[in-house]
Amino acid sequence: MTSRRNLLISATTLIGLSLAAPTSAWSAEAPVPVVATFSILGDMVKRIGGDRVAVTTLVGAAGDAHVYQPVPADARAVSQAEVLVFNGLAFEGWLDRLVEASDFDGLQVVATDGIEPIRFDGDDDHHDDHDKEDDHAAKDEHDDHDHAAKDDHDDEHADAHHHGAFDPHAWQDIANAVIYVDNITEALAKTDPANASTYYGNRATYVAEMQALDAEIRKRVAELPEDKRTVVTAHDAFGYFSETYGLRFVAPHGISTESAPSAANVAALIRQIREEGITAVFVETLSDQRLLKQIADETGASIGGTLYSDALSGPDGPASTYLDMMRHNSSTLVDALSQ
Ligand SMILES: [Zn+2]
Repeated sequence: MTSRRNLLISATTLIGLSLAAPTSAWSAEAPVPVVATFSILGDMVKRIGGDRVAVTTLVGAAGDAHVYQPVPADARAVSQAEVLVFNGLAFEGWLDRLVEASDFDGLQVVATDGIEPIRFDGDDDHHDDHDKEDDHAAKDEHDDHDHAAKDDHDDEHADAHHHGAFDPHAWQDIANAVIYVDNITEALAKTDPANASTYYGNRATYVAEMQALDAEIRKRVAELPEDKRTVVTAHDAFGYFSETYGLRFVAPHGISTESAPSAANVAALIRQIREEGITAVFVETLSDQRLLKQIADETGASIGGTLYSDALSGPDGPASTYLDMMRHNSSTLVDALSQ
């Protein structure tokens, strides 16, 4: 068995010399090569895989996975991977082309498989009606995570945040993150069955920590007065957090990390902050801080702190792991709202 495997590896290595992007030459003794599309998934894979995995994260800390432009090294990493973990729900609009450009033949893990996605309404404060036709296309394509929902007419609607019919930010609910972890664990165990018990053991420890944090967040939010649960963020990525933990998030403009709001959007928000007595405005890593400052100046609301939504902080930041991110966000929110 071992000698046959070695022969296979040698053959692969030889063929690899003549190919631009050799497929994986992984041998079961080595750590499993895994590609995760963005930092939150990369962290989860490391927690479950430990030193049994070698993780490449495509969109790193503080990166914006909505608008990422893959580089050639990414195609090489994908080619050599045994497992590719991505969020799905049209979050990584650039991924299909990257996979096509590689010769990946491993296991694809859609982390959101099995969660109950939140549907974009299309008729709330910051979307207008021509979203609706896109929603149809996206719904049909949802199961195979095709990206057909991208706007054909994306002028002012060039909205990176709004590719599909469903809100992709499902990890903001810890119960969903447990499903992510289960999907990743199963894929690692299937790829590397000799170490399945390690993966399942790591999963059990991790999930216990997740559930404890989930309970803590619920308890702290429940202690807030009912009329102090509305917050403002520029990056509307907290739909799942809102639904699960009971805070209300008001966005100053549409679900976007890149399109500029109109003067009318800003004026409407300022009116809304005044009318609803909102006291805290939150700045996120991916958003326009000058806009938030303008709103804060005009309303007297305070800037509550930094929330991390789509990417972890660097290793020295307050949100360098998924659990630290959720802990940091919930504490920052509750502290600002209870002032
Ligand atoms: Zn986002």
